[in-house]
Amino acid sequence: MGGERPDEPAPAVSGRDTKALKVHRASRPEGTRVRAGAVEIGGPGFVVMAGPCAVEGSEQVERAAAAVASAGAHVLRGGVFKPRTSPYAFQGMGEPGLHVLAEAGRRHGMPIISEVMEPAQLPLMEESTDILQVGARNMQNYSLLRALGKARKPVLLKRGLSATLQEWLLAAEYILDGGNEQVMLCERGIRTFETELRNTLDLAAVAWAKQRSHLPVIVDPSHATGVPELILPMSLAAAAAGADGLLIEVHPRPEQAMCDGHQALTPERFQTLMRRLPAVLGAVDRHLWRPDGPAQVARAR
Ligand code: PEP
Ligand code: MN
Repeated sequence: MGGERPDEPAPAVSGRDTKALKVHRASRPEGTRVRAGAVEIGGPGFVVMAGPCAVEGSEQVERAAAAVASAGAHVLRGGVFKPRTSPYAFQGMGEPGLHVLAEAGRRHGMPIISEVMEPAQLPLMEESTDILQVGARNMQNYSLLRALGKARKPVLLKRGLSATLQEWLLAAEYILDGGNEQVMLCERGIRTFETELRNTLDLAAVAWAKQRSHLPVIVDPSHATGVPELILPMSLAAAAAGADGLLIEVHPRPEQAMCDGHQALTPERFQTLMRRLPAVLGAVDRHLWRPDGPAQVARAR
């Protein structure tokens, strides 16, 4: 869109607005399905992405990958470029970490997702990851969004810390407008007056984004709550609210994590979560994603 009248106010994403945006549900009523390796996101199958906040080394990633794969996760996560609040905190392993993550993904048959922070990192990230994550702090990094519009890999766009729903969808519009249609939205909690939890999980935003846009919506209950005990109930609530999947931090030894250990699930807790999801998904006519899909399973019987 855009370009003709640069000073024009941003078109609203509300139902009353008639101006067509590429992100609007009306531009693709059947919904977008995103493909990452063999995994399809946005169809009837519910997709779980899990792994450590940050890649710390090959042993840590291998243990995390083995744990989440055996529990039934579909996509392996791990940050190698970390946007940290303090410049003195661990900033991620960079390129060597990416190769560690990619190898673990290959060993366990899972596509990988990792965060890209700036356009200069894109050639490397596009080459080696299956999904490019845009972190909350970069949701309005417009040069990054423009570059991702030209990328040939799917993008998971996290909602900014204080972004309105309009701003979130218009950020996605930048990527769609560049020609990349493989975009997912990710609700990861927003900053409110509440201080007990890391953020406030906006579940209405999930249902709203599903209705207003055609893009798959993923929920990240780890950053949304910052509390391991709340990740299970919020994951079930996200599934009930119509999310297409989850992004969850899991660490083999949370107490030793170099980043976000306070909110990481242990492998055991993650396994419990994976066991509890199918009942809620069944109640809303969904199921955990599987390569052969329910129709083919039924045909094979
Ligand atoms: C992350 O996924 O580790 C991360 C940095 O998330 P967010 O951008 O949502 O804070
Ligand atoms: Mn994190």
